[in-house]
Amino acid sequence: MTKPAITAVDPALEKTLRPKRLSDFIGQEKVVQQLLILLRAAKKRGESPSHILFYGPAGLGKTSLAAIVAAELESQLYTTSGPLMQKSGDMAGLLTNLNEGDVFFIDEIHRLPKILEEYLYPAMEDFSIDLLLDSGANARSVQMKLPPFTFIGATTMLGNLSNPLRSRFGVTIRLDFYDEPALKNIILRSSRLLGVELSEKAAEEMARRSRGTPRIANNLLRWTRDFVHARVEKIIDENDVKEACLLIGLDDRGLGDMDRKMMEFILVHHGGGPVGIKAIASFLGEDENTVASVYEPYLLSQGLIQRTPRGRLATKTAYSIFT
Ligand code: ADP
Repeated sequence: MTKPAITAVDPALEKTLRPKRLSDFIGQEKVVQQLLILLRAAKKRGESPSHILFYGPAGLGKTSLAAIVAAELESQLYTTSGPLMQKSGDMAGLLTNLNEGDVFFIDEIHRLPKILEEYLYPAMEDFSIDLLLDSGANARSVQMKLPPFTFIGATTMLGNLSNPLRSRFGVTIRLDFYDEPALKNIILRSSRLLGVELSEKAAEEMARRSRGTPRIANNLLRWTRDFVHARVEKIIDENDVKEACLLIGLDDRGLGDMDRKMMEFILVHHGGGPVGIKAIASFLGEDENTVASVYEPYLLSQGLIQRTPRGRLATKTAYSIFT
């Protein structure tokens, strides 16, 4: 039987639970502080704030923050994502529709085709684009001015972004995994929004198993609610959380089957490593990007593996836990 994936995204749930303003945004205090200053200064000057790049693992709040920036500026938000944009016409269409002060957000910006990336440079730098008119022998390009806007990019793979693009953002903000108290507060807030009753201890138990990630915390809350309420309507307690997690193979460190498989591969099959990411990916039946952006960041943050030029190494902590 395949276990239900706790990382699956439920769009309706995401919409209800997404924080709408900076004051709803729990944790990441430094990031919130930085944004407050940026927004306040821009408002004071009557200008759009500089372009912002958010980076960090998936589910930590990058998209939510882009929407919050637009809401705080009382501006319109236009959203797209790197893989959706293929032709320069797609980009030109979006950019020429922007009004003064709008916020334009591209998620997964590292997957934007190179040619579109170059198209963005003058738009970000001088608020202008080169439009290609006609084709063949009649082709000519005209420069078009754009109203000032704020561009926001989000990526899980900062290293895959070209230097010229990276350097055109005025502010680059890194989102880190959340600590347990912040996750507990996120879970309690979500439970109020969803009308789910749970004990403080249950919220703590969920927080511990949420891999530092609000999206996982919310999905775990929903899964535990379904797990418990399929049998009986009651206040969810910590034992319910443990039972619900057991069924999907999520342990008390937030590690799932894939993480354990990866650790076993490094520790048992390769005597602790180093092991190349290619070998790990093919053993897990995943692509390298997924291993690098989904599994690895949390294992690194927990001090279970180390990245070296020769590959991934298991740490002493990993040995003490897994052997
Ligand atoms: P990303 O764009 O980094 O993948 P999202 O912004 O889509 O992450 O966040 C995933 C979900 O996690 C959102 O739907 C939201 O409900 C929740 N979330 C993220 N950050 C926070 C936070 N700081 N406080 C409350 N909920 C959050």
